[in-house]
Amino acid sequence: MLTSRRSILTGILSGLFALPLLKGARAASSANGRKALVIGAGIAGLAAAKTLADSGFSVIVLEARSRIGGRLHTDRSLGTPLDLGASWIHGTRANPITELAQRFSQPLFDWDYDNEEVFDLTGHDGRSVERFEIFADALEGFMEENETSLSRISAKNAIRKIRQQRSLLQLTDDEIGFLAHSLLEQEFAASTTELSLAGVDEGTAFGGPDAVLPDGYDKIALGVSQGLTILTEAVVDRIEHSSKGVSVSVAGKVLEADYAVCTVPLGALKAGSIAFSPPLPDTKRRAIDALGMGLLDKVYLSFPEPFWHETVLNFGRISTTHDAFAYWPNLFPVTGKPILCALNAGAFALELEKLSEENRRRAAFEALQTMFGRDIPPPVTSISSAWQQDKWTQGSYSFLPVDVAPGARTALAANLNSRVFFAGEATVADYPATVHGAWLSGQRVAQEAIAHAR
Ligand SMILES: Cc1cc2nc3c(=O)[nH]c(=O)nc-3n(C[C@H](O)[C@H](O)[C@H](O)COP(=O)(O)OP(=O)(O)OC[C@H]3O[C@@H](n4cnc5c(N)ncnc54)[C@H](O)[C@@H]3O)c2cc1C
Repeated sequence: MLTSRRSILTGILSGLFALPLLKGARAASSANGRKALVIGAGIAGLAAAKTLADSGFSVIVLEARSRIGGRLHTDRSLGTPLDLGASWIHGTRANPITELAQRFSQPLFDWDYDNEEVFDLTGHDGRSVERFEIFADALEGFMEENETSLSRISAKNAIRKIRQQRSLLQLTDDEIGFLAHSLLEQEFAASTTELSLAGVDEGTAFGGPDAVLPDGYDKIALGVSQGLTILTEAVVDRIEHSSKGVSVSVAGKVLEADYAVCTVPLGALKAGSIAFSPPLPDTKRRAIDALGMGLLDKVYLSFPEPFWHETVLNFGRISTTHDAFAYWPNLFPVTGKPILCALNAGAFALELEKLSEENRRRAAFEALQTMFGRDIPPPVTSISSAWQQDKWTQGSYSFLPVDVAPGARTALAANLNSRVFFAGEATVADYPATVHGAWLSGQRVAQEAIAHAR
């Protein structure tokens, strides 16, 4: 099966740039006659391909998976669209992803994080919003005081120090653990031991509320992909480059082009899944090693009917194991179906990935029983992500570990010979680890290639 697929692909690749059909109408009327290969059909690769194609380049996107979208991955097996990768547009005002959602007629559902209920070890407790604010204010104050050494301080050490402040003395250790996990580990997909305060501080944000896409985030990728030439199950394993152009190896065949845009995730770069010739410069190699690839996974549980407050969007669970099943978005208001989602990050998410789907479901259900009581009905079914095990991503998204300067992202983004360009969420210093950051990075490198080709 694999062999026949490879040979079909090889056949297609043999004449790829030569085929008028694959060149497309835009390429036929190409103003500059330039060819570009884009590696990866995630949102960064699609942004780059679209920008290059619109500017008259002949573009082929090479995607290892059998689907496009990368970390925009919507599953519909439970009868409604559920996102296993990104869910939220973070900051919908002036966000390019909001514009894309409008362009592709995608409805948005504004997400109110303050609409929440937190369950502690003794049952339901309503002090959560106030506690979040006290904790966030204390952390922010600490970061301002230590502005010049943020890269050297782990989030864990910062929390240890602010723990002694009067405003936080009223909180229990389990509450502090829950807040640290909810505000930092879930957000940055990394443990507070690894994450630096520079990582907490990096980047900027669009304004306005966050929103989810009820019809699925993959609609954005599908919308952008229209009219592009994309080969799926096309695994790139080598990129050669010189000042004259690039050669990209796919399934034993070599494609020649003027430019390549590499958008493979940091996790895949760390694993060395693509060989570069000449080898990557030391600065880029060091950046790949130094930046962290975090882990965030989701478990969706589908129930016969809701047993929770249907209109509450967020449920929190304070427990003695702070990173286990602490955050539960409620999908009922979005999908009209009795579905809850658990988000887990870092070490606990990694442990969960080792379990079967059935055992992940059981563990999630037991956590829910500590919140809603032992009598709740068991889930009918579930689906979950395992982004660390995913060969083409090897993690969820990037973060800045302790002792790594934000400049590592710039080093990762640097091009080779103005012929091989690097895009993707990990290359972005202003909006790292987001869909819009990845999108903007793809547009940026495409503009650089366009400028070089003039
Ligand atoms: C669980 C989770 C939740 C998230 N939540 C949010 C959120 O709510 N909001 C938000 O803004 N962001 C979120 N993110 C981050 C966001 O999904 C990513 O930042 C963004 O989608 C990354 O896009 P990309 O194009 O850089 O990478 P990808 O989407 O990973 O695309 C890279 C592509 O390269 C392909 N590839 C890899 N190796 C090869 C190879 N050798 N040859 C060919 N192709 C290859 C991959 O298959 C993939 O399709 C989340 C991510 C995860 C995992």
